[in-house]
Amino acid sequence: MVQSAAALCVGVGSFSDPGDLPGLAHFLEHMVFMGSQKYPSENGFDSFLKRHGGSDNASTDCERTVFQFDVQRRSFKEALDRWAQFFISPLMIRDAIDREVEAVDSEFQLAKPSDSQRKEMLFGSLAKPGHPMGKFGWGNAKTLKHEPKKKKINVCWALALYGGNSETGFDQNTTYSIFSISITLTDLGLQNFYEVNERLDFWLLRYLFFIVYEEIQKIEANEFLYQEQVDPLDYVEDLCENMQLFPREHLLTGDQLLFQYEPQVISDALALLTPDQANLMLLSPEHEGRCPLREAWFGTNYSVEVNSDLGCLWYKKDTAFHIPKAYIRFHLISPVIQKSAKKYHVYPTCRNTSGVLGFSVTVETQATKFNTEEVELKIEEFLSSFGETLSSLSEDAFRTQVTALVKLKQCEDTHLGEEVDRNWAEVVTQQFVFDRLNREIEALKLMSLQELVSWFKEHRGGSGRKLSVHVVGFGAKEQDEQEEENSGGEKREGAGALYREEDLSSASSYGEVSKLTFLPASPKMAGASISEISLV
Ligand SMILES: [Zn+2]
Repeated sequence: MVQSAAALCVGVGSFSDPGDLPGLAHFLEHMVFMGSQKYPSENGFDSFLKRHGGSDNASTDCERTVFQFDVQRRSFKEALDRWAQFFISPLMIRDAIDREVEAVDSEFQLAKPSDSQRKEMLFGSLAKPGHPMGKFGWGNAKTLKHEPKKKKINVCWALALYGGNSETGFDQNTTYSIFSISITLTDLGLQNFYEVNERLDFWLLRYLFFIVYEEIQKIEANEFLYQEQVDPLDYVEDLCENMQLFPREHLLTGDQLLFQYEPQVISDALALLTPDQANLMLLSPEHEGRCPLREAWFGTNYSVEVNSDLGCLWYKKDTAFHIPKAYIRFHLISPVIQKSAKKYHVYPTCRNTSGVLGFSVTVETQATKFNTEEVELKIEEFLSSFGETLSSLSEDAFRTQVTALVKLKQCEDTHLGEEVDRNWAEVVTQQFVFDRLNREIEALKLMSLQELVSWFKEHRGGSGRKLSVHVVGFGAKEQDEQEEENSGGEKREGAGALYREEDLSSASSYGEVSKLTFLPASPKMAGASISEISLV
């Protein structure tokens, strides 16, 4: 079974957001997928992909928006037609607007604690007035709903004008490019911050480029020649972005190979690498209380210092988790159901923890919007309705699901790394079932609908056990500046904060250090014992 993939890159992104509608391009990226005239069903495309072993994604960058999907080769043509209709005649139904504003807002709220995102936004806000670098490309409920309502701007109308999706053209685009050097300092390094930077030898840096050009050229050429097959979904994404950047004959190679040596081009670019062009950013928790300024969107505290030769920007690293973020881990012992996951917040997975098989659902959400008990209730509701769906499943529908799953498992690895990861997992877990996929396929073929249904009932009923872990971020600054609608939640009763977790998903070129900070449990947890949180 081989996957096919397609991508579309539109040369418009968040830099094109109108001044009074920050985040519009990103919002449009979301709205495009709400059904088309030919295929009006709102989730039709996703469920089609799911049935045929595919997936889709999209992202809004500063100057580009990319949409891509992959699917089993046999279903490619139909998938392509369904997908193309989103761009030919999208419905953009009014009903979906509020929901998608919520989705965009959620993405922003979940990104808000990320140091790398905060740093990027702060950096952008320091650009000279009017430069698109300072734009708030994420968008949130405030910019897409509350403010437009006040100013009577019709978002629906403006939608038709711009397209967009979000990743990292922030570092490089047609108006500027950033050459960033990131240094992690020791305590001593922090004390000698300016000295460290003076030792950054800009001249050496510049000459290095001339010396190593040929070397890099050779290495790149070799890598290109011996490259492994890559995931089709990633490949089409890169390729269609190249179409915005390179002439036709260089579409396949433009972003990988270095062509003729042009010293003038290189030296022109390198001439810009001088200390007076540099921005120094220092991140440290030591600056608590010394950062009176506040970046408008992420609320990052910072201060600007210009009395040294180089100029300096201070920024307090977000160790205190300014925006609350809740994680719920939900462990239902035994089932093997595949749950349809809503993109950004739900992570269902099958687990084998020290020999205990289980199915877990992790929901990541904003603590100010939902309390964790409510979310747990929702998960329960879902599982109940899933049970009903399962019971009424036709033999045909069951077979279709099984076949799709079998095909997914038959998919050959697209590159060596995938195979290595699979085998390595067997080694690490000391299970050594190197032919696991084949065994699973054989088992799947033997399974009957009746077996699945009764097995599900068994584990949801009397003999099922569940462990529910609620992790809620909290702190003095939790309230930040919440929108009017984000009520409730602040006083979450009974949800004990066990630890805070920093967002690991948003690694940027600046790098990010992940950490777990243990906090004292809430007083409400004082008398809790395991039997109280694990329901039998
Ligand atoms: Zn998005």
